[in-house]
Amino acid sequence: MVKHSSRIELSQSALKKNINFIRKKIGEKAVISSVVKANAYGHGIDPFVKMAEKAGINHFAVASAFEAEKVLGVKSASSSVMIMGILYEQDFEWAVINEIEIYVFNYERLEQLKKVAEKLSKQVKVHLEVETGANRTGIPFKDFSKSLTYLKRNKKHLEFTGLCSHFGGAETYANKFKIDKQHKIFKELNAICKKKKFLPKYRHIASSAASLMYSDTVCDLVRVGVTQYGFWPSPDVYYHHLQEVGKLADNPLRRIISWKTDIMDIREVEEGEFIGYGTAYQATQSMRIAVLPLGYSNGYPRAQSNRGYVLIRGKKARITGLINMNLFMVDISHIPDVKVGDEVILVGRQKNKSINIASFTQVTQLLNNEMLSRLPSDIPRKPVR
Ligand SMILES: *Cc1c(COP(=O)(O)O)cnc(C)c1O
Repeated sequence: MVKHSSRIELSQSALKKNINFIRKKIGEKAVISSVVKANAYGHGIDPFVKMAEKAGINHFAVASAFEAEKVLGVKSASSSVMIMGILYEQDFEWAVINEIEIYVFNYERLEQLKKVAEKLSKQVKVHLEVETGANRTGIPFKDFSKSLTYLKRNKKHLEFTGLCSHFGGAETYANKFKIDKQHKIFKELNAICKKKKFLPKYRHIASSAASLMYSDTVCDLVRVGVTQYGFWPSPDVYYHHLQEVGKLADNPLRRIISWKTDIMDIREVEEGEFIGYGTAYQATQSMRIAVLPLGYSNGYPRAQSNRGYVLIRGKKARITGLINMNLFMVDISHIPDVKVGDEVILVGRQKNKSINIASFTQVTQLLNNEMLSRLPSDIPRKPVR
């Protein structure tokens, strides 16, 4: 196989640290469902699922059947996959045969799934997603009792695997009133199940932020995305942690991802010359420029033009001119002994300097999650220690 113009490395030890931290926060009992939608937040489903299993995870959550199929291809037999989002009717049989756990957010789906499971002589694992106030997906209250009764009557083909909901914005303190209201409704729906003596295997509502900020929302399972990758969901969640541990600074989370390339060519540019397309960058003195073999089509944001930097030999090298489709240039005038083929850090550490995703997102106005999930899936990903 020929070499790709950039590569991503994923740190197994960082992942282990993050999982340990989450485990410590949520206690021993709750199952951690590792959320690997959006190609594992850009980290790559294939390597990440295997790494997570090594770190003790055996439950994975995705947004679509397409992603679930990817997880199925790499997970070990003892791990489960749960689809939280889109599953088309044409794929019901596939999902039932592969014992995928499925979010159900309307009553008709229960009937349809039961028919399919019956035909296949199987039992389908249903997570009943309930509306609590986020107004995305979720069974409305008026259909809740009816759905429970239907599940109970059709136990042979429908397993009540989960009762779940999703907070609309637990990462922001200002939303606390909304989170409290949702949590209260969720507990009331739980109570209805109890009263009917019909309990699911897992009750779950907390994602990363709620797991870290509101321990009373941690039930039988938590769905953890962004934090397992080493990111705080928001400054609020980080400051909440500092309050808890009574320190001024304490970051136990480690970034898993590094993104690297290498120098394709080096050239001298005279004072007054323009670098790259148009007149975006004019050399104010004679300069040495390194050419890098990737651009916006490879996931490097064009908004970094003339603004961002990379690391070469442990030093910052500023981007000069526009990010092109497949190339960009950086200033290496101040860095001695740079050679073609030298390693370039786009995201990650080199010597004592680092570039994190947040330094991109400040410039580009992208969310961390957005920047990560846009990293093209064809960049090779490699687990490292
Ligand atoms: C994405 C998602 C999560 C994970 O959220 P994080 O904030 O990344 O932990 C959990 N639950 C649902 C329903 C989601 O869509």
